[in-house]
Parts: sequence; structure tokens; C-alpha cells
Amino acid sequence: MLCCSFCGRKADQTKALLAGPEVNICDDCISVGVRTIEVRDALETVSPTDEALAGTSDEVLLSHVSATSQLIEGETKLLRGQIGELRRRGVGWPAVAASLGVTEQDARRRFSS
Ligand SMILES: [Zn+2]
Repeated sequence: MLCCSFCGRKADQTKALLAGPEVNICDDCISVGVRTIEVRDALETVSPTDEALAGTSDEVLLSHVSATSQLIEGETKLLRGQIGELRRRGVGWPAVAASLGVTEQDARRRFSS
């Protein structure tokens, strides 16, 4: 049976599985990818050069802050879910920390609940 090349879920465990020539991707992994791009774009919009920021109105900046904050909250929730699942499977903090690119201490502090 086909499975997602990113998370390993089988076709019958996903709502949709798009098959490519050598890799497949499920609806959940597509959502993660889309959100990642949204966050990146929002961060680029909200953290442009100081010059560009100086030329942006209070209203626009406030709306960017709000949008970015919501995206980050969504990402954090998603990340907590993924890390919680890994921990339930017995995956150790060193592996989680390595995938986050932070120290084990930071990973524990941020994500142990
Ligand atoms: Zn997937």
C-alpha cells in the first residue's frame, strides 16, 4: 500500500495521499508545508529591513503582528502535537532536540508538559 514519504502514514490512514514519481505526500504533511511557507512569508513581511518597517503604518504593522502571532501559535500547537506523539513512542529528547536544532535542555524546557 502507498504511504506518505514524509510521515509514513499509509493511504488508508490519510484523507488524501498525492502520489509523485518517487515520493508521496499526505494531506497533513501538505498542511504542514503550507503553514511553514505562511509562517516564513509572514516573518519576511513582518521582519523586513528597518527602512521598510519605518515606512509601514501603525495599522499595517499591528495587523502583521496579529497575523504572525496567530501563525506562531498554530505552529507551536502543531509542534507540541508532533513532539508529544514522538515522546509517546519513546523517542528520546536528544533526537527531538537534534531535529529542532536546539539543545536537549531547550527542547525539554519548551516542550515537556
Ligand atoms: Zn504525511
